[in-house]
Amino acid sequence: MSSRRFCSSCGKKGVVLHDNFCEECFWKDNNIIDFKQRKLEIAYCLTCYGPKLPTGWSKGIEQQEIPDVVGYAYMRNIIASPDVDIQVGEYSKINWLNPNPEFMITYIGISDNIDGFAPHREEIEVEIKLLGGICKACVRKKTGSHDVTVQLRAKDRSLSEKEIDIATKTVFSVANELFQESTDAYVSDIIENHGGVDIYLGSNSLADDFISHLKKIWIAHHEKNYKLVTEEKDNKRVYRITHLFRLPGVKGGEIVLYKKELYRVDRITSQSVRLIKYKDHTGIHIRDWENLTIPNPGPSSISKLVVSEDNQTSSYLLMDLANYDTEEVNKDQFPRILDIGEEVQLIIWENKYFLPI
Ligand SMILES: [Zn+2]
Ligand SMILES: [Zn+2]
Repeated sequence: MSSRRFCSSCGKKGVVLHDNFCEECFWKDNNIIDFKQRKLEIAYCLTCYGPKLPTGWSKGIEQQEIPDVVGYAYMRNIIASPDVDIQVGEYSKINWLNPNPEFMITYIGISDNIDGFAPHREEIEVEIKLLGGICKACVRKKTGSHDVTVQLRAKDRSLSEKEIDIATKTVFSVANELFQESTDAYVSDIIENHGGVDIYLGSNSLADDFISHLKKIWIAHHEKNYKLVTEEKDNKRVYRITHLFRLPGVKGGEIVLYKKELYRVDRITSQSVRLIKYKDHTGIHIRDWENLTIPNPGPSSISKLVVSEDNQTSSYLLMDLANYDTEEVNKDQFPRILDIGEEVQLIIWENKYFLPI
């Protein structure tokens, strides 16, 4: 009876079938193991080499033990049915001179559950990137070092994911560079707070270096505040330093007011905010971005037909395409010549018309 059956895919007869497929065809379309994320970024302590695992900071270990500990801890991310046998396979070589070393872990799944099929073996590779930092235990052990906080914020808005990401990557790379020279150049914590992030650092020089890197990325308001925290027995005053680094509230593409004129934000650089003026479409760079405001009410969009022009008064006769009202508008309100008969999409703000940018 079974000899009449054949593989639904390749047509082979007289072989063991599972779900109507022969062994070879069945494994082409079926997997026994998968992994939640094929790329993982894992913090590890630059002082004691303990990695931060899903369960929290692991205790200190030898540097070369990190892949093993990480490999076993992240077996929990494997997606497989319980009858699949899982093993941790090989690791790729690790260059420990790289401040954020990367390596691959191979996980192996073996399934021997299909009657008549040979045991099936599958491998998946997971990419691991280690990010140097400091664990809670090592922070506590450090004496005499007083945390410095960098508060990263944006004016009147929350930071974007991208901004937080850039700042986090920057602080770790600065810390890794400095860590060769001073062991208190560590990042002890990063906490999201009030739409921004508070970054706790082990030393003032790390904070200063981090701020100067941020200044190369964004124009911002920066202030450094000192607060007396303890007066020690020898009368030495100890200050806790907090940096506030506040990014502009506006973003590229937004319509803003600057000195009572309407502008569109082109981009924000380390040196300036670049604006484009609606009236003549020319660009300017400004540094006093704290004077930018969002117009309220904002401009709206309107369709007009250019009916005619009057060279005597240097004006156009524009007709509203919604209600056929006409009105004269001075030509110098627009950065280019409008064609007679042209239908233009304009923006209107405070009874003035502008060509969109
Ligand atoms: Zn087949
Ligand atoms: Zn540690």
